[in-house]
Amino acid sequence: MHFETKVLHAGIEPDPSTGAIMTPIFQTSTYVQAAPGEHKGYEYARTQNPTRDVLQQNLAALEGAANGLCFSTGMGAVDAVMKLLQPGDEVIATNDLYGGTYRLFTKIFAPFGIHFHFVDMGNPEKVKAAVNAKTRLIWAETPTNPLLKIIDIAAMAEISKAAGALLVVDNTFASPYLQQPISLGADIVMHSVTKYLGGHSDLVMGALITNSDSLRERLAFIQNSCGATPGPMDCFLALRGIKTLHLRMQRHCENGAAIAAYLSEHPLVGKVYWPGLETHPGHEIARKQMRDFGGMISFTLAKDTVEAAMTFLKNTKLFSLAESLGGVESLVGHPATMTHASIPREERIANGLSDSLIRLSVGVEHVNDLIDDLSKALKAV
Ligand SMILES: *Cc1c(COP(=O)(O)O)cnc(C)c1O
Repeated sequence: MHFETKVLHAGIEPDPSTGAIMTPIFQTSTYVQAAPGEHKGYEYARTQNPTRDVLQQNLAALEGAANGLCFSTGMGAVDAVMKLLQPGDEVIATNDLYGGTYRLFTKIFAPFGIHFHFVDMGNPEKVKAAVNAKTRLIWAETPTNPLLKIIDIAAMAEISKAAGALLVVDNTFASPYLQQPISLGADIVMHSVTKYLGGHSDLVMGALITNSDSLRERLAFIQNSCGATPGPMDCFLALRGIKTLHLRMQRHCENGAAIAAYLSEHPLVGKVYWPGLETHPGHEIARKQMRDFGGMISFTLAKDTVEAAMTFLKNTKLFSLAESLGGVESLVGHPATMTHASIPREERIANGLSDSLIRLSVGVEHVNDLIDDLSKALKAV
């Protein structure tokens, strides 16, 4: 089955009791048993819910894998993966991780005795150099936030296999439409369903996908024991959003390409970060492992100051100033004062996040209206 058909049909059947084509929202906490232990596969909604089951099967199919598990948030999904580890275990993670993941690793799991190495995964040699006998997990995120760096997933899988460690890929920025890490050797794919999968900025959710039945069993045990499970209404909304994932992603990519080209030519713009540009250092690997290059773009202003960025942000109308990404509406953000404000300025700039860096989540509006909006805001600068 092609991806475009899977989004609509994989794991989804009309409701057997009524024929309803849409998956019902099973808004129930418990299920009646005929006799103690005699039930229809459902006992209590933290453990199993039919709406969630359908979503989990659908997500697994989209990543080309056997098993999916959903969580109340993306961070709930990351948390569940880390609970596979024991004190003394070591993790190698990309050095420009999503801020919430970095916070969970350093502030919650490091005090429990898990040791983290943050390395530049653009260079596989640096990852190899960080491997030792205690390495249990490699955590990669690609493309990264906000500089859209590309990590070679197949190269990471080779290193993790040789080390006897698990490779986990946060696939939130790409979505399974653009990139399927399991086919490149990843053991677990993590998603913030909140972003492209949900696609409509109307829910918060996480997911883990794996081909391994033993990993599925351990992660489902953690899911049920720790309890970060999503409600059935959110599962319904995610299923509804996913039905148009392929259509939305095509438009995100087309609009992304046109806007990256426009910004690259603009005299008031400094650098443009978009993996589809041939000048992007990760372009060749992106071509190899992604179907297209997505709708996330970052750029700096020629006048590289926080004030210039503020003027720009006050003057966009269609691009709304907000955290988050991946929805149908275009969003704009300023990492230095928003998502990355807690990083000291010198460290931030050393990592390439300059004062005027602006991040766009390009939506599915008409591209000329979006370019017009950016053009007016640039003129104001
Ligand atoms: C948003 C996000 C998360 C966290 O997901 P939530 O749904 O907000 O908990 C993790 N990784 C990436 C790359 C994200 O963008």
